[in-house]
Amino acid sequence: MDAGIGFDAGEDYPEIREAVQRICAGYPGEYWRGLEDERAYPTEFVNALTEAGYLAALIPEEYGGSGMPLRAAAVILEAIHETGCSAGACHAQMYIMGALLRHGSEEQKRHYLPKIASGALRLQAFGVTEPGSGTDTTSLRTRAVRSGGEYVVNGQKVWTSRALQSDLMLLLARTAPIDQVEKRTLGLSIFLVDLREVRGRGCEIRPLPAMINHNTTEVFFQDMRIPASSLIGEEGRGFYYILDGMNAERILLAGEAIGDARYFTRRARDYACEREIFGRAIGRNQAIQFPIARAYAETLAADLVNRKAAALFEAGRDCGAEANIAKLMSSEAAWNAAEAAMQTFGGFGFAREYDIERKWRECRLFTTAPISTNLILSYVGQHVLGMPRSF
Ligand SMILES: Cc1cc2nc3c(=O)[nH]c(=O)nc-3n(C[C@H](O)[C@H](O)[C@H](O)COP(=O)(O)OP(=O)(O)OC[C@H]3O[C@@H](n4cnc5c(N)ncnc54)[C@H](O)[C@@H]3O)c2cc1C
Repeated sequence: MDAGIGFDAGEDYPEIREAVQRICAGYPGEYWRGLEDERAYPTEFVNALTEAGYLAALIPEEYGGSGMPLRAAAVILEAIHETGCSAGACHAQMYIMGALLRHGSEEQKRHYLPKIASGALRLQAFGVTEPGSGTDTTSLRTRAVRSGGEYVVNGQKVWTSRALQSDLMLLLARTAPIDQVEKRTLGLSIFLVDLREVRGRGCEIRPLPAMINHNTTEVFFQDMRIPASSLIGEEGRGFYYILDGMNAERILLAGEAIGDARYFTRRARDYACEREIFGRAIGRNQAIQFPIARAYAETLAADLVNRKAAALFEAGRDCGAEANIAKLMSSEAAWNAAEAAMQTFGGFGFAREYDIERKWRECRLFTTAPISTNLILSYVGQHVLGMPRSF
């Protein structure tokens, strides 16, 4: 796919890359543009990935998945984005499932994971962010109070992506009031909520129109009753369970951002070579050529850090610094490549049919969500470099 551009040197999982790209070839830019017009969900694309088993890559074989290493899953997401497609509609399943896998009971795993692997159940929604707490997760206000064999949930989530297209939602809620816990990171719990059971019965989901077609929503809970068996792991330890999954999430999303960076670099390089103005290719001008060359260099560097993070993760070693830095560098590489492509395409960068403006809007998200650049820098400053806490 990148013949002549050199991203393919030392590529791992070539068969996965090729197979994913073959699927993606059936979903060209016009498919994604059409979805944006309708604010619709890419059902056919997600079904194709599910049928091919890619969304179950991280589910162990004993639960019906293919039990691949994290790196292979990052490659799947990278390959999707490199073609100009977007995994935003379905990537969450890969990392949300980890909470169930690591902390769920054997009964919960046997009940849900095979159905998630086959696509019979969709676990795409992750309810963490709230309007009043944002980045400051432990300040969230949604409460889940035990009442006999149930929990009663009240509160609100915002930016809960794909809640309208998901059967299950992983919900983070406070089970012990913040003034009654030793540390604010305690007293939060995670629940696997069956949205099919609660919608219209204490749970209301409203679409939240956004700059990109991310199928995101606001979710309101009013005396929503869920069975006590929805609790994953131990009550009160949910924040730590979410933290456990963050390195994997960073590595997977860094894969997507690297895929976007490759997409932009390739498109910009091709256009810079083809487009002739003042009687010569615009790529002869170093003002056009250098940002593309820099985007290529930044993408390679981000990719190397992400590979290191995945290797440490797989070896069971601490990879917090590498996973965070991979996310930071890949999100910036993607954005710088997007900017280089926008500038290279000139006015045509704004024309919808070229897909540059759509991908440019989409890849801007990586520096904001699921964690912003500032929060990663503060992690590196404090936890890696040992500087004082800022908050
Ligand atoms: C399209 C989209 C999809 C999303 N999907 C989901 C989802 O599925 N589930 C979910 O739970 N959430 C989701 N989110 C939410 C996302 O994770 C949050 O937007 C993000 O965590 C930031 O929270 P906030 O928007 O409230 O920003 P705030 O916390 O209000 O922060 C605003 C700005 O201030 C900065 N800031 C805050 N505190 C500090 C500090 N101490 N030091 C330096 N800078 C600081 C932040 O870095 C940020 O730049 C999504 C968001 C978007 C836009």
